[in-house]
Amino acid sequence: MIIDDQSYDLIIVGTGAGGGTLAYKLAATGRKILILERGDFMPLEEQNRSHVDVFKRERYHAPEEWYDSAGEPFSPQMNYAIGGNTKIYGAALLRFREKDFERVKHQAGVSPEWCLKYSDFEPYYTEAETLYKVHGQIGNDPTEPVHCADYPFPLIAQEPQMVAIGEAIAQQGLHPAPIPLGLTRQSDDPTNDAEVSGILPALKHPNVTLKTGAKAICLHTNPSGRAVKGVEAEIAGQSYLFLADIVVLACGAVNSAALLLRSRNDLHPQGLANRSDQVGRNLMKSLITAVVQLSKKPNSGTFQKSIYVNDFYWGEGDFPYPMGHIHNTGGLLTDIIFAEAPPMFSGLAKFMPGFGLKQLATHSIGWWAQTEDLPEPINRVRVDNNKLWVDYTPNNLEAHDRLLYRWTDVLKSVEKHLDGFQPGVLHPRGEVPLQVMANQCGTCRFGDDPDTSVLDRNCRAHDVDNLYVVDGSFFPSNAGVSPALTIIANALRVGEHLIERLK
Ligand SMILES: Cc1cc2nc3c(=O)[nH]c(=O)nc-3n(C[C@H](O)[C@H](O)[C@H](O)COP(=O)(O)OP(=O)(O)OC[C@H]3O[C@@H](n4cnc5c(N)ncnc54)[C@H](O)[C@@H]3O)c2cc1C
Repeated sequence: MIIDDQSYDLIIVGTGAGGGTLAYKLAATGRKILILERGDFMPLEEQNRSHVDVFKRERYHAPEEWYDSAGEPFSPQMNYAIGGNTKIYGAALLRFREKDFERVKHQAGVSPEWCLKYSDFEPYYTEAETLYKVHGQIGNDPTEPVHCADYPFPLIAQEPQMVAIGEAIAQQGLHPAPIPLGLTRQSDDPTNDAEVSGILPALKHPNVTLKTGAKAICLHTNPSGRAVKGVEAEIAGQSYLFLADIVVLACGAVNSAALLLRSRNDLHPQGLANRSDQVGRNLMKSLITAVVQLSKKPNSGTFQKSIYVNDFYWGEGDFPYPMGHIHNTGGLLTDIIFAEAPPMFSGLAKFMPGFGLKQLATHSIGWWAQTEDLPEPINRVRVDNNKLWVDYTPNNLEAHDRLLYRWTDVLKSVEKHLDGFQPGVLHPRGEVPLQVMANQCGTCRFGDDPDTSVLDRNCRAHDVDNLYVVDGSFFPSNAGVSPALTIIANALRVGEHLIERLK
């Protein structure tokens, strides 16, 4: 192993929503910062999804195998690149709702309370929305939490067909709202991400060094085991040790947990920071089902996500439990996760012979129905024989079924009253499979009790003084809305703590 001759104040591993944002926040401290990223910069044509054949499968799947609980290998949808999964995300940047930070009873169990509340995150949500240039408008959604400032950028124009659908949904007494989007407004790559808003501005500071193609393999501790001494990383087949005073993991919820488990040593036989046996446990990834609405009128197939509906978020009359969140997918030619549900489309193609798949996509509106899954110790990341296992059994299924049932009802009513749709047509749907880990979170939850949590409220490991985790791992519970803005806001929050510590 080559020992790097530099010593850093801080190393960040991973450049996605958590790591990229933290790098931005800390860059101006002047402290010597090293960023290790296993991927590389993504060429623009790879990022530009408007020409992606939606059925070209596994385009953004990592070239590695993970194993499900039955021992079946699968190739996860993970984007290993500068910016991580934000390079391919939908950039729908919603805040968690106030109650998402509280203990909430669900039909299938309990979503636990966080040690910090919405009011603790609020200033960082505002900072995150400015940094990621969120275009939005506060208004119509009954679950909208308190904002201390308006969105920093106005709404973008919506696809005309989506405007008409939004109006028809509102006529049923529901509250469709414009979905807040992080946008650069560039036509070749419109969505804002952790490369654009995090890494590129950070690299303008001479004290920040980035090493790409650098895959962290394990962390080494000092003789007492109370501190991390360095990060071992593989670069072009060669092993290197990088030394630092503080190490921050931001590899995504699955990979950060796996890295801690792989870093087991005599003083930490269960894995680093794992005295509580919680590292890797409580993996959540949201229950997500795509629903397709067929339309006689064509649309561009390449528009951004436009509206969301949260009327069922906390449940309704005969089902007083959280059901979840609905939003439209954006044009089906640009939506990557849609490519993961080919059985639904092959069914459709049979149902509509003679219709090319592209034709089908431009005559469809896609919807995501998303329900919170609950943290369970048995849903976990494990490392065994150097293989990465993901044991995940979905829970809270009845709430998700209710949401799908209600949403299909809404679509049927909309179609009766709206030009361009044929009442009575089916709504094909498909659940996203295990390999879609888009909303992964929860494997190193934060909390005040070292026996039941991995990280403290500053996202520092209870057991290891100079080790932090700032990706989606820290969530004690998931929410109905998507996680990226909360990961970004948290990285800004932890960044403030680290700035103090580095003084
Ligand atoms: C197709 C898709 C659409 C999505 N749409 C939305 C959306 O619209 N709204 C929303 O809120 N969320 C969305 N998400 C989820 C969002 O992208 C993630 O929640 C967010 O990116 C997670 O941030 P993170 O920092 O935890 O991990 P990531 O962003 O995944 O970053 C992890 C980083 O660590 C690097 N890395 C991993 N292992 C190592 C290692 N061993 N050594 C060095 N580097 C390593 C990776 O290459 C990557 O750069 C979407 C995700 C996908 C895949």
